[in-house]
Amino acid sequence: MAFLFDSFEGWKKYSDEQHLSLVDVVLEYEETQKGHNADDTRKGLMKAWLVMKDAVHTGLEEDMTSRSGMINNGAKKVYRYPKAVLSREFQQLIARALAAKEVNSCMGRVVAAPTAGASGIMPGVLYTLQEIHQIEDSKIIDAMLISAGIALIMEQKASIAGAVGGCQAETGTAAAMGAGAIVYCLDGNTEQIFNGVAITVQCMLGLVCDPVAGLVEIPCVVRNASAAAIANSSAQIALADVSSVIPVDEVIEAMGEIGASMETRYKETALGGLAATKTGQAIAKRVLIRDIEILPDEQMPA
Ligand code: SF4
Repeated sequence: MAFLFDSFEGWKKYSDEQHLSLVDVVLEYEETQKGHNADDTRKGLMKAWLVMKDAVHTGLEEDMTSRSGMINNGAKKVYRYPKAVLSREFQQLIARALAAKEVNSCMGRVVAAPTAGASGIMPGVLYTLQEIHQIEDSKIIDAMLISAGIALIMEQKASIAGAVGGCQAETGTAAAMGAGAIVYCLDGNTEQIFNGVAITVQCMLGLVCDPVAGLVEIPCVVRNASAAAIANSSAQIALADVSSVIPVDEVIEAMGEIGASMETRYKETALGGLAATKTGQAIAKRVLIRDIEILPDEQMPA
C-alpha cells in the first residue's frame, strides 16, 4: 500500500521506514494510484516542464493583451526595465512569473500547477532557479515530484482551489510547491523542505480570491509574481535552518480553517474585495456589455 499523502509528517515517516526518498514515495503513489510507472511519470513531467518554459518565452516575446484589456504586456515591461530593484535575477524572476501567467490570461497554453490561476509561479521559480544554479533538467523533474507531493497534501488538508479556500489555496499552494522545489534543488534536507513550505504558507494565509469581472487577470497576474518572490524568500529562510516554529501540517490545517471560514464573496464569486470596488464594478459592466454586443443574433436572449 502506497503512502496516500495525507500529512507531511506521514510522508517523512513513510520515507524513513521504507528507506525511500521523498521523490520515490511520490513515484510509488503515481504507480499504485494512477498506474503510471516512474519512467512515464518523469516523461510526463518533462513535457510539463517544456510547456512551462515555453509559456515564459511566449509571455516575454509575443503580444500579451487580454480580451478585457486589463492585461497588457506587463511582463515584457518588467523584463526590459533598465533599473533593477534588487538584482537582475530578481527582476527576471518577477517578469517570468508574470509572463507565464499572462499567457494563461490571454488563453495560451500553460501548466496548471496546481491551477491555471497560479500557473506563472512554478515556471518563474524553476526557470530562474535553473538558470542561476545551472540545475539539470532531471533534478528539476525530481523537484517537480516534491512539489506534487506538497500539493497532494495541501489539497487533502486544506484546498488548492480559490473557489473553496480563497487565493491562499491557489497562489499559496503554488508558492509552497515552488519553495519546496527550491530547497530540494539546493540540497536542503526534508526538514528544511517542509519548513520552506510552512514559512511560505504562513506568509500567504488569509489571501482572498477576488478577481475583477470574474476574469483570472486582476489581481491574479501580479499575485503570481509576489507568490514567486515569497517562495524564494521562504526558501532562503528555510535553507538557513530557521524553523517555521508551527509545524507544517498545523500551518496547512490553519489554511484549511481560514478557507472554510472565509465569506463566499471572497471565493471567486467576484462579489467582494477588488472585484467589488467602484472601478472593478465598472470594468465588469464594460466586459459584460461588450460580450453581449459581440454575441451572434441567434445566441441573444429572447
Ligand atoms: S484571485 Fe482567485 S482566480 Fe485569481 S489567482 Fe487568486 S484564487 Fe485564482
